[in-house]
Amino acid sequence: MSTGLLLLIAALALAGLAWFIRREMKKRRRARLRAMRLSPEERAGLAQEMPVYARLPEETRALLDGLVHQFLAEIRIYGAGELEVTEEMKRLIAAQACLLLVGRPERWYHSLRTIHLYPAGFQSRMQEREGYVVTERAQGRLGESWRYGPVILSWRDAAQGAANPRDGRNVVYHEFAHQLDSETGVVDGAPLLDETQSAGKWARVMQSAYDGLRSDVVQGDAHFLDPYGATSPAEFFAVATEQFFEQPDAMRRALPALFRELSEYFNVDPSAWT
Ligand SMILES: [Zn+2]
Repeated sequence: MSTGLLLLIAALALAGLAWFIRREMKKRRRARLRAMRLSPEERAGLAQEMPVYARLPEETRALLDGLVHQFLAEIRIYGAGELEVTEEMKRLIAAQACLLLVGRPERWYHSLRTIHLYPAGFQSRMQEREGYVVTERAQGRLGESWRYGPVILSWRDAAQGAANPRDGRNVVYHEFAHQLDSETGVVDGAPLLDETQSAGKWARVMQSAYDGLRSDVVQGDAHFLDPYGATSPAEFFAVATEQFFEQPDAMRRALPALFRELSEYFNVDPSAWT
C-alpha cells in the first residue's frame, strides 16, 4: 500500500473518530442539561408570569425545566429595537417554546439558533412582485418564523400570551409551531410525524378542518378557530396549535377529530393544565 493511501485512510479514520466524539459529547451535554431543574426562585417567577407552568404535573414541569436549560444553552435570544433582554425574559420565552415539546421530548428545534426580541409589534418589510414592479410595504407584526431560523417576537405580546393561558392566543406557540412545521424543509402545515402517526390520516383530518374553517370564513359564519388560520395550511396548523394548548376542552367539543390528531402529535392533553 502506498504511503499516500495509508495517510488518506488514517485521515479519514481520524475525521470519523472526531465526528463520533463530538456527537457523544453533544449527547452527554444535552442529557446533563435535560436533568437540570430550575431553582425555586426561577420556578416561582415562571409560575407567576405563566400560570400554566404552576398547573403542570410535577413530572411534566421537571421535563420542561430540562428542556428550558437546553433551549437557553443552545439558542441565543437577542434584544432588538433597544430592548434589554433579561434572564427572566429569556426563560419565559424558552418555557413557552418548550411546552410544545414536553409530550415528545425527542423532538427539537434543530435549525433554530437565534431569536430576536422586539419591545412590541415590529415592522416587517415584505416584497411584492407584480410584473416588473416590486413594491415593499411595511407590515406590523407580532412574530415571524424563518424556515432555518431565526424567530422574531414582540416581547409585549409574548409576555401577554403567557399571562393569559385561556384566550387562545399565544404568539410563542404560534411561531414555534411554524418552526416544527419547517423541519421538513417546507412550511405547509405538515410537520414531521412520530412513526406511530399516520400521514394519510393527518392529511385527511387537517384538510377537512381547514376546508371547514375556510368555508365559514367565506360565508361570514362564526367558527371555533381564529379566521387567520384560513390564510394557508401553515397558518392553520399554527393557529390550531395555539388553541389546542389554550382551549383544549372547547376544541375537543367543537372539532373532536382535530383535537385527537393534535393530541397525538404533541402527545399531551392540555385539559389538565388549563
Ligand atoms: Zn403564522
